[in-house]
Amino acid sequence: SIPLGYFGGIGLASRNGILFKGSNFLDVMTQIDTVVMDKTGTLTEGVFKVREIVSDGISEKELLQKTAALESHSTHPIALAIVEKAKGEVADNIAVSDVEEIAGHGLKGKIGVDEILVGNTKLLRSFGIDYPKEIDTIVFTTVVVAIGKKYAGHIVISDQIKPDAKDAIAKLHALGIKTVMLSGDKENVAAEVAKEIGIETAYGNLLPEGKVEKVQDLKNQNRRLAFVGDGINDAPVVALADAGIAMGGLGSDATIETADIVIQNDQPSKIVSAIRAGKITKTIVW
Ligand code: ADP
Ligand code: MG
Repeated sequence: SIPLGYFGGIGLASRNGILFKGSNFLDVMTQIDTVVMDKTGTLTEGVFKVREIVSDGISEKELLQKTAALESHSTHPIALAIVEKAKGEVADNIAVSDVEEIAGHGLKGKIGVDEILVGNTKLLRSFGIDYPKEIDTIVFTTVVVAIGKKYAGHIVISDQIKPDAKDAIAKLHALGIKTVMLSGDKENVAAEVAKEIGIETAYGNLLPEGKVEKVQDLKNQNRRLAFVGDGINDAPVVALADAGIAMGGLGSDATIETADIVIQNDQPSKIVSAIRAGKITKTIVW
């Protein structure tokens, strides 16, 4: 039988915008010693803005239009920013075919006879295409473009850290909980964001299976983990964690479906509230 306190805890949490999919997860949250988080959309807004466009061999306008034409096939937050930037300047006559989304890398397609690649430097490297070395030192998310097997330019974009992220991390640390960030973004962007928020350990450049490996490593060390994520690629790690938490507002359906706990308004501080709901439930005697 389920103690009545659990119903109180679930109700309390739901009034706070935290959906527990089972009363057992209230208890699990009180045992968590490590909170692992995704970066984009979890600790940052997941709303990117274009900062700079650099083209090589073609005009900036053509670079943006062709990139946006391909990105219009993706729902990734990066894609939304590029399509938004190109708005009003979209050339309807750019027909893209053979579009393929390559997880953790970006997109591949064809415009006319030319292959077009849009994504991170890992994507270009995997196709054996060279790019200027300076790109690796940019401390913002950078989308690199290759057209016809040749580097054609890059688009620098940036995201914003959520207002309550730093405070949420400080509160987790005050509870003696360790924090880890896992990101598919560049190593130096991941490190910079982690430093700004106060996260202890950050890993960048991770493919979806790399995130799974890191979480499995922590589990093998007998850590009790909560994982908080929002993207399609986060579903496997959400499933693997002792408590899988999804950001429900911007989150992908697969991740919300897999999660044990859903944070409806996407605020990182609700991770702390979820732990608190578990602790309150334990101390209430009905
Ligand atoms: P994260 O949410 O941590 O950024 P993802 O797996 O969603 O992880 O993406 C990893 C990286 O792959 C992104 O940071 C980006 O460099 C690249 N990427 C993925 N999808 C796209 C896209 N549609 N356009 C450009 N780059 C992309
Ligand atoms: Mg994400």
